[in-house]
Amino acid sequence: MSKTISLLGATGSIGLQALDVAEKLNYTVAAMAAGSRVEPFEQQIRQWRPSLVAMADERAAADLKVRIADLPTKVTAGPDGLCEVAAIPEADVTLNSIMGVAGFLPTLAAIEAGHDVALANKETLVAGGAVVTAACAEKGVRLLPVDSEHSAIFQCLQGRPPQGKPQKLILTCSGGPFFGKTKADLEAVTLEQALAHPNWSMGLKITVDSATMMNKGLELIEAKWLFDMEPDAIDVVIHRESIVHSLVEYADNSVIAQLGVPDMRIPIQYALTYPDRYPSPVKPLSLAEAGKLTFFAPDHETFPAIELCRAAIKRGGLYPAAVNGANEQAVALFAAGKLPFASITPLVSRIMEQPWGEATSAEAVLEADRESRALLLELAEA
Ligand code: NAD
Ligand code: MG
Repeated sequence: MSKTISLLGATGSIGLQALDVAEKLNYTVAAMAAGSRVEPFEQQIRQWRPSLVAMADERAAADLKVRIADLPTKVTAGPDGLCEVAAIPEADVTLNSIMGVAGFLPTLAAIEAGHDVALANKETLVAGGAVVTAACAEKGVRLLPVDSEHSAIFQCLQGRPPQGKPQKLILTCSGGPFFGKTKADLEAVTLEQALAHPNWSMGLKITVDSATMMNKGLELIEAKWLFDMEPDAIDVVIHRESIVHSLVEYADNSVIAQLGVPDMRIPIQYALTYPDRYPSPVKPLSLAEAGKLTFFAPDHETFPAIELCRAAIKRGGLYPAAVNGANEQAVALFAAGKLPFASITPLVSRIMEQPWGEATSAEAVLEADRESRALLLELAEA
């Protein structure tokens, strides 16, 4: 069945792969949004001819408006523009692949409009999981996971009996570029080394998060909200080959896994076509070619970010929003050469030292985000 989508974060790593999937499925794109890069976005608009587009950056949007004056496409800008794109009535599903908490309000706007949301933007759930899941329940819409681990779990859960809630979720984790390193080894790490992920080619922020393992901590929180699981019932196992994408353990200790070559077009496509499956451009998995699959316990001493996130979600309220905001700020400082890699997680951890309130509204979530960024900047300068 052909569908119409709205795509946020079109120019990013997930956005590009989503358009590849959409092209092969013969889907229509009603609306698109991007951050600030005008040229690649203009090309995408000329190819896909959406009726509405938005750019987060107002000046980029003004530039775009001039460049595509020959098209009937409406151009909007800023957070309101992103929300308008997310909520476009023609869309059957909104795919949110914006980087960071900037994706939070657009996710809510899509839900408000009654759209199912294919969610790559994990920061939406980390910062505002309580608000987002309440909005979904109220509107009767679904969150369809795009993150590969969560797509794997979602797939493993298909066909379970109604009372068949799993007793445990097991997230796999590649271990990133610094697997096997010690704390001392991480002292002199450069941005280039942090960006050399062994298995996945992704945007800057998630690649740095994979190097600190914060990504897996954020995914633990994401899994709690997507699958309504207690944080202590979510385990992490290092799996260097990224072929087993995650696992589910049921009451009888039977464990179900989802496997495939590491290619985000499989989870993107499943989120878009759910519950159906269609042929995909991704190559089939050859286990014989893979040869060996390995698993290790995480090294929490060198990479404390997973347990930091577990502690944040166990405290609840706005702690996860604060950890997320502080981490976004810390990664931006590291990328700008203003913070050593080894300081990212220790500084983010200090966010836990102060009380954070309850996640009662979207505004409270965004306020905690702003406050935690400001606090992280103070801590980094001290
Ligand atoms: P990316 O940096 O490659 O792309 C981000 C996209 O968001 C771009 O289109 C950019 O223009 C846009 N953007 C950035 N800041 C924005 C803002 N303030 N407002 C509006 N748009 C903005 O990132 P990515 O790797 O595609 O990741 C996107 C999201 O998907 C992240 O939440 C990430 O954690 C998640 N994710 C990515 C992968 C992956 O393989 N890349 C896997 C799982 C989950
Ligand atoms: Mg993932």
